Amino acid sequence: MNFLASNPSSYYSQISKPLLTRSLLCKVLRIIVTPNCNNKCFYCHNEGMTQETQSLLNLRDYHFLAHSLTGFFDGVAIAGGEPLLSNDLISVSKSFFDALGCKLYLTTNARLPLDIIVRNAELFQRVHITLNSVYASTYSLITGKCLKDQIFTNVDILVRSAIPCMVNTVLINGINTTENEIKAMMDFSKRTKVPLEFLHLQQCESLKGI
Ligand code: SF4
Repeated sequence: MNFLASNPSSYYSQISKPLLTRSLLCKVLRIIVTPNCNNKCFYCHNEGMTQETQSLLNLRDYHFLAHSLTGFFDGVAIAGGEPLLSNDLISVSKSFFDALGCKLYLTTNARLPLDIIVRNAELFQRVHITLNSVYASTYSLITGKCLKDQIFTNVDILVRSAIPCMVNTVLINGINTTENEIKAMMDFSKRTKVPLEFLHLQQCESLKGI
């Protein structure tokens, strides 16, 4: 589907007014570069997406969006799904970097190598790594996948690079909120010198009985 490219001026005239109004409140634009993810976090809303779900926008659409939104936003956050699964990640990022004139925030689960991000360091303001536990069993319980050494390698690579990074931990009541879990995350942050932010304390209804 290519609704933006098929009639961009008509589309833009329809969305520009609400966008302008919203932009007064929300100054950071969030761009989803792929709906797909290599994790299966039980709390993820997924929005009906599967690994096979095709992106609705192509590069031309993103390029059009980037140039249409020039001046409306102070920052751009690149997200997914898992952004590193998108072959267009760097091209899309360049489009928004060039058009909006600001560096980008990137959110990733860091399961894939981040070398491509480091090679394009000039595009990125900060990388946010979502890591909900440093314990393999807890990580697996939350994400449905194994904890990979690649995540820790990526943190080391970013620390040595010119790109600031931070770790975001989604607190899930009864899963990763024990003293051991919190202390392990704080020790990890202290050891790596990477800032740590705890997000949303969630009630864990869906895992009752596990
Ligand atoms: S890493 Fe993020 S996008 Fe992927 S399944 Fe977990 S919450 Fe969803």
